[in-house]
Amino acid sequence: MKFENSISYARGLDKKDPLRKLRSEFHLPKLKGKTALYFTGNSLGLEPKSVRKFVNEELDDWASFAVEGHFHSRRPWLYYHKFSKKALAGLVGAKSSEVIAMNQLTMNLHLMLTSFYQPTQQRFKIITEAGAFSSDQYAFESQIKLHQFNPDTTLVELKPRAGEYTLRTEDILSAIQQHEQQLALVIFGGLQYYSGQFFDIKKITVAAHQAGAFAGFDLAHAIGNVPLSLHRDDVDFAVWCSYKYLNSGPGSVAGAFVHDRHATNFDLPRQAGWWGHHEKDRFKMKKGFVPMPGVDGWQLSNFPILSGAAHLASLSLFEKAGMKALRKKSVLLTGYLDFLLRALDPGQHRFVIITPQDPNERGCQLSLLMKKSGRKVFDKLTKAGVIADWREPDVIRVAPVPLYNTFEEVFQFAEIFKKALA
Ligand SMILES: *Cc1c(COP(=O)(O)O)cnc(C)c1O
Repeated sequence: MKFENSISYARGLDKKDPLRKLRSEFHLPKLKGKTALYFTGNSLGLEPKSVRKFVNEELDDWASFAVEGHFHSRRPWLYYHKFSKKALAGLVGAKSSEVIAMNQLTMNLHLMLTSFYQPTQQRFKIITEAGAFSSDQYAFESQIKLHQFNPDTTLVELKPRAGEYTLRTEDILSAIQQHEQQLALVIFGGLQYYSGQFFDIKKITVAAHQAGAFAGFDLAHAIGNVPLSLHRDDVDFAVWCSYKYLNSGPGSVAGAFVHDRHATNFDLPRQAGWWGHHEKDRFKMKKGFVPMPGVDGWQLSNFPILSGAAHLASLSLFEKAGMKALRKKSVLLTGYLDFLLRALDPGQHRFVIITPQDPNERGCQLSLLMKKSGRKVFDKLTKAGVIADWREPDVIRVAPVPLYNTFEEVFQFAEIFKKALA
């Protein structure tokens, strides 16, 4: 695609955009009374207007039915965890029986590690990317300690080569091979939150399995952003949150995937709760935990209806748009941003885009590593009406989201960024 650097060209792309109407389904935030240029959907997605209706319906049903709402509300609360299955399965490329909305992300990560990280004296190592999201690092560290291993010798964190910003797949695969005798688990962010690198889930999974280890992914920045095919890729487990690209609201219900291969492996150790108990006698309150087959058997608690209502409202927009069309627009939208930004500083004296340039290795986010006065540039962006994201020590993350951002906004951002650099 050959892009042009002009506002009329950007507007032309918006006119041709088959998804342009979706923007009006969202509340757009304001900065000093003006609609902001919002590029932080990777941190907190915008509120779909339909969320209010969905949540109000639950509030009304709670008022009208009280406890009977479990059976008689319009979306009976007893079955709420089932209502998001189809949409989630579509987003991660899975069967309905392999996905579940539950808990929060870090909690789900711990639940999965309990089952899929069972170190022995022979096999105890975990391979992950260096600089993983802090919560993930803490989860790995604490799980390793729980099994009385030493995190320093157990966790293998892969760093990019000197002078590079992202990991080469070949280096990930050879590290897996190198540690294969002692490897218990390979776990990566599907899409790295800092660099924006989209890892090769399939190749990493194949290598992990060849080494005799499990493969898991944290999809916090991948779900709703890039195409995923967890079932086909044979991934063992995955977790995600719903408040980033999934636009389900701050702290909204998260999710998990467990491959069907493990659906009836009741020997996997797990933390149990009544909602994971077989539904046919969940309410008999009997002694002896009998898990539901599939990922449903990892549930702990009854479903958080109010955040789940927001989740359903948002998921229906993804079903309306379709991930294929969203991805198509996303590649163009981020490609356009990449094109405009690179032209501002071809010598890379002021900043480097550390996110891979190949669309197959990234989602919609670009991470700009600022070589000098990064914080100042960022503050100027904010003053000019841009909501982007500053990551210590020196990265500005910009994420044009295909559901609601426009090509014209991308153009405006590049203009503002140019002035901020000057
Ligand atoms: C956003 C994010 C989290 C946040 O965890 P919560 O449990 O939702 O607070 C964790 N890990 C990654 C990779 C993230 O991107």
